[in-house]
Amino acid sequence: MGKKFRTIKVYCQKCDTILYEYHKDKPGHLLKCYQDRIKEDYTNGDLRCPNCGEEFAREAVIHAKPANKIIQNKVYIKG
Ligand SMILES: [Zn+2]
Repeated sequence: MGKKFRTIKVYCQKCDTILYEYHKDKPGHLLKCYQDRIKEDYTNGDLRCPNCGEEFAREAVIHAKPANKIIQNKVYIKG
C-alpha cells in the first residue's frame, strides 16, 4: 500500500515497437512484468512483438503472482 510506481514504456529491441506501458516499482533492469501492473498492453497477449513477431517474454509465476519474465536483450525501456 502507498507504493509509488513509475510508468515506463517497454519497446521491442529489434524493431522499436511499443509493447507495454508498465508500472515499475524499483529502478534498474526490467526482468519481469507482473501482469496486474501492465497499464497498457499493445501486444496480442502472446508475448511476441506484434510487429516483428519476436518472442520477448515467457509466462512465469513470481512471488505467487502471474508475471511475464523478460528474455534478455529482447526489449528496452524508456521513462
Ligand atoms: Zn519487434
